[in-house]
Amino acid sequence: MGTALSGRRANWAGNIVYLASELAEPADLAGLRAAVRDHPQVRAVGAGHSFNRIADTPGVLISLAGLPAGISIDAEHAAATVPGGLTYQELAPRLTAAGWALPTLASLPQLTVAGACATATHGSGDGNGNLATQVSGMQLVTPDGGLRTLRRDADGDQFRGSVVGLGALGVVATLTLDLVPAFEVRQYVYLGLPAAMLRSHFDEIFGSGYSVSVFTDWQGSRHRQTWVKQRAGAAGSWRPGPRWMDATLATQPVHPIPGQPAAYATEQLGVPGPWHERLPHFRAEATPSSGQELQSEYLLPRQRAAAAFDAMATLASVVAPVLQICEIRTVAPDDLWLSPSYQRDTVALHFTWIKDTAAVTPVIAAIEHVLAPLGARPHWAKLFTTAPHAVRALYPRSADFQQLLRDMDPAGKFGNSFVRKYFPY
Ligand SMILES: Cc1cc2nc3c(=O)[nH]c(=O)nc-3n(C[C@H](O)[C@H](O)[C@H](O)COP(=O)(O)OP(=O)(O)OC[C@H]3O[C@@H](n4cnc5c(N)ncnc54)[C@H](O)[C@@H]3O)c2cc1C
Repeated sequence: MGTALSGRRANWAGNIVYLASELAEPADLAGLRAAVRDHPQVRAVGAGHSFNRIADTPGVLISLAGLPAGISIDAEHAAATVPGGLTYQELAPRLTAAGWALPTLASLPQLTVAGACATATHGSGDGNGNLATQVSGMQLVTPDGGLRTLRRDADGDQFRGSVVGLGALGVVATLTLDLVPAFEVRQYVYLGLPAAMLRSHFDEIFGSGYSVSVFTDWQGSRHRQTWVKQRAGAAGSWRPGPRWMDATLATQPVHPIPGQPAAYATEQLGVPGPWHERLPHFRAEATPSSGQELQSEYLLPRQRAAAAFDAMATLASVVAPVLQICEIRTVAPDDLWLSPSYQRDTVALHFTWIKDTAAVTPVIAAIEHVLAPLGARPHWAKLFTTAPHAVRALYPRSADFQQLLRDMDPAGKFGNSFVRKYFPY
């Protein structure tokens, strides 16, 4: 395992310098357990992709990048058990080679499985949950260095409360993930979708593919790009034509962010390819997204999509100076307590900002002002200013999560200022 955070003390975007006094990089499970047991304050870090202090600790930061990268596939149960520190970029080709796939992937492959699941990220498509919903089992290193296994089929509420644990319930040594047979995907991009069409035909547009993303800058009357990822051979009536929804089929590859090289994006123009080379927007070997950016994301009830678009239209001139691109996607509901898609069909508005915290922060607050009344849940791993009591109110199981923190980590070994701010315990 090599590409995750190693030796660095800042997050991927460089806007957070970790407060940790030490970075531990154990070489095996015994070393990981000892590192947890022997230090009063620890926290696991994955690829360091999060844009806020969620992965930070004043104590010892533990990277799992040096642990053995072996995976085991249980064909009978269509499941793979993988090390938490493995990146999707390391995992996906190996699954494909064995004839398997994950139901969905992140939009970029460089993040770790444990980091993505701890924050309930990605996952895109009307029928696709976020990445944490693929977890059927997890092995946690507990505060005393012990090992604890939680299973979806045996541990009920404790499991549902722990999968999206924000890194605060233990260090995830391994995860068992649901698999599906490997599949191929074709990716088509349409240019210039009328904003009015998205508003009036939301279900049809997002239902046209396995995973659909609309990229917009909220300027003018048309959205820039609509990416439709279709499973090759899937049933369904949608066929790509040169015009669709009054948008135009792209005949050249594009990048979601204006001015960025199309070569960094995954292959388009309907060329079929393995799931792991089409579901991410960005190629494994390329700089993800723009490389110079901050991000925020809000996840809203799907039925509030039109209201959210109307609200964003009022902020077009406010976002313009700091926005690189905004992605609209959908996520299926789930039952994981701290998942932003908990018990609701979701539309997500994902903002890629310029890398200027001072300029971006007031714009984030302006967006929250208009989206909060619609029930917007902020993405755990990105920038937001929503007040802690308001965050807790967005999650019906907040109090239960606080109790879980007390039960699983009574001394607060895995706690940090981020988690304590939203879930004091
Ligand atoms: C360019 C870019 C694009 C992105 N695009 C999207 C997007 O389209 N959609 C989306 O939803 N998100 C997106 N993200 C956000 C990203 O998915 C999250 O930040 C995710 O948490 C990153 O995983 P990581 O491995 O970097 O975790 P980190 O940022 O290192 O850690 C995240 C959390 O997981 C915990 N953690 C990590 N490893 C473990 C472990 N082994 N055990 C216990 N806890 C652990 C950490 O303590 C922390 O709380 C993007 C990020 C970047 C940089």
